[in-house]
Formats: sequence, structure tokens, C-alpha cells
Amino acid sequence: MNCCTASNNTKVAKTECPSCVEKGKTVQLITIKSLHKASALELTEPENSYVFCSNAACSIVYFSGNHSQTFLVRTSWVPKVFG
Ligand SMILES: [Zn+2]
Repeated sequence: MNCCTASNNTKVAKTECPSCVEKGKTVQLITIKSLHKASALELTEPENSYVFCSNAACSIVYFSGNHSQTFLVRTSWVPKVFG
């Protein structure tokens, strides 16, 4: 039985950004909640995992692990700060 073949992740969520296809970094939902305005919080789904896209050229900042949700930098919440 090879139940654990070649897997570094305990979760099955995708980490590739749906926009730029770069691998993102999984973040806790609380991280998004701390950044988002209240209106966006209603969109978050606790059962989803969320991934942060660190590509500065990409319009997506966070996305859910199943790609059902994306959070864009252009929406009205605190933008990323680089450098
Ligand atoms: Zn991206």
C-alpha cells in the first residue's frame, strides 16, 4: 500500500496561483481576516485553505486552495507593500 508516496503536503490544496501559476504559500484564514475589510470576510470559507501569491506582478494576492475564490490586490483592502 503506497498511501504516502511522494507527498510533502499534508493538505491536498493546490498552491499554484490561478493567475500566474507561481507556487504560493499557504496561509491561515486569520491572516486574510486580519487584512480584509469586513465585506470580504463574508466570502471566506473556513473549510478552505488559502494561499498567498508572492508574485508582485500578479493581480491576485490570495486565493483559496480549490481556486473557487480569489482576492485581488485591486479590491478595496490593504494592499501589499514591497521593498
Ligand atoms: Zn499569482
